[in-house]
Formats: sequence, C-alpha cells, structure tokens
Amino acid sequence: MHKVFTLKYKNTCTCEKCNKPCKYHRVQSQKVYSCQWCGHNISPTAGTIFHKSPTPLRDWFYAIYLFSVSKNGVSAKELERQLGVTYKCAYRIGQRIKSLFDGDISVLQAIVEVDETYYRGKEKNKHASKRTPNNQGRSTKTKTPIIGAVQRGGDLVAKVVKNTEAKIVMDFVQTNIVKGSEVNTDEYKAYSKVRSRGYIHKVIDHSKKMYWFNGASTNTMEGFWSQLKRSIHGTYYSVSAKHLQKYVNEFVFRYNRRFATTHNFISLMEKVALPFQEVDQKS
Ligand SMILES: [Zn+2]
Repeated sequence: MHKVFTLKYKNTCTCEKCNKPCKYHRVQSQKVYSCQWCGHNISPTAGTIFHKSPTPLRDWFYAIYLFSVSKNGVSAKELERQLGVTYKCAYRIGQRIKSLFDGDISVLQAIVEVDETYYRGKEKNKHASKRTPNNQGRSTKTKTPIIGAVQRGGDLVAKVVKNTEAKIVMDFVQTNIVKGSEVNTDEYKAYSKVRSRGYIHKVIDHSKKMYWFNGASTNTMEGFWSQLKRSIHGTYYSVSAKHLQKYVNEFVFRYNRRFATTHNFISLMEKVALPFQEVDQKS
C-alpha cells in the first residue's frame, strides 16, 4: 500500500483539500490515507488497476509477480488456483495486469525485419480462408492480422491491425522505423512502397523457398510469431480479436526485456500507480 502511495504521490505532500503541507497517515482497515490537518481522505488505489478491487494488494502483487516470471503468460485458471479467488475475479485481475505491459514504445533503426501474421482465434464458423492469387492466403475474414517489426539484435514492435493493405502496412513502417534504415520483408506486395518512402528495401522471396538472401531475412519476426501463437494457445487457449493486442503486448514486453538487468517484476511495479481505464469486461 505504501509502495502504491509513494509511486502515485511521489513526495508532493500537500493536501489537495486544505492545501497545507502535510503527512498523510494510513487509515487502518481501509485502503485510504488521511490528511493530518483536515482529515481529507485520499485513495492511492483509486483510478489504478486496483480500483475498487476487494482482493488484498498482497495478492495482487503476487499475481503481478507470477506474470513477471512466467515465459508463456498466466491464465485466469492459474490465478484462480494461486490466489483462491473466483474465476471471474481471477480473469479480471489478469486482464488488468495485462494493461501494465502496454505503453513501451520503441523506435527501430539499422536493420529491421518487418512481417505480418494471421491469428486464428475465437470464432463461430471455423473454415479456412481461401488462398487466392490476390490475397496470397491473407484473407482476414476468419483471422486477425498482426504486423510486427524487429530491429536485428534489438527491440520488437507488434500491432493488431484491421487488414494488411498497403496503407496500413506503410503507416506501421513509417511510425516505427527510422527513415534510411534497411527494411527486410518478404515479397508481399503491400511492401512495394518501402523503397520510395526512404528506406533501403531487401526482399526475401519465400515463394522461391528462399529464407536468407543477400544478408536479409525475416526469420526473427517469424520466430516471434510462432512463439506467440504457441504461448497463447498453450496458456490462454484462444483469444478474441478484440483482446488480442493485450496479449501481444505481454509477449512483446517479455521479448524486449530479454537482456534487461532489472527484474520484470520491478518494471511492472513501477507502472501500477498509473491511471487505468477498464475497456470492457467481457471476453
Ligand atoms: Zn488537508
């Protein structure tokens, strides 16, 4: 509790009501602090991921710890078991903790691989999308597209998108990659404007069974996609398109921290006092 308090209010200890410099003291039995002069209550957990949660903070921190040490994510079922709460409560805690994985923005440069993938999640009618010469098997009727970029030896960025038409693909490239960088992609035609937008473009022609060409490849990105799909399938079983970005963020966070010297738990804890907004509770 004190940890959340100091993260949220830092050292600014002026009462927001009476404006006096004050020492807030903890009100026992409640998750609030009170001003020594006017008795005004402030709640460090209000508006954060802990907002109005009946679950003790100790259990929340433990759940965050579980996320921080896991490789493949933590399912609601697992949280239910570990915390001894209902499935519904566990699901909610898991979803809120996932919001902590958001917000790290990396700008990529030097040599950058760009690739897209298609995630087949929850759906009513499972039928394979037809592969036509036009979409090259990239129909989005039953699959959710994700586009990603990774700097060789560096950070990775991945975004769930509506479709993989040239406009969306190029917006992604220009937002995340510094101009002048070398961009490696496969032969998909949406990438045809990469060169004219100021990048060096190296293309690997997968249709010719080529995976490494002229020093260029998209192997790292492809490795990330298969790891992502395996982990989601193994831990969460299936995720709806609406929630997919949160899961992607979770795995991007882990990937980008693979060489980090501070523990993932510390990095996640630094974000717990940030404002949080519940998007939607249904999966
Ligand atoms: Zn006061």
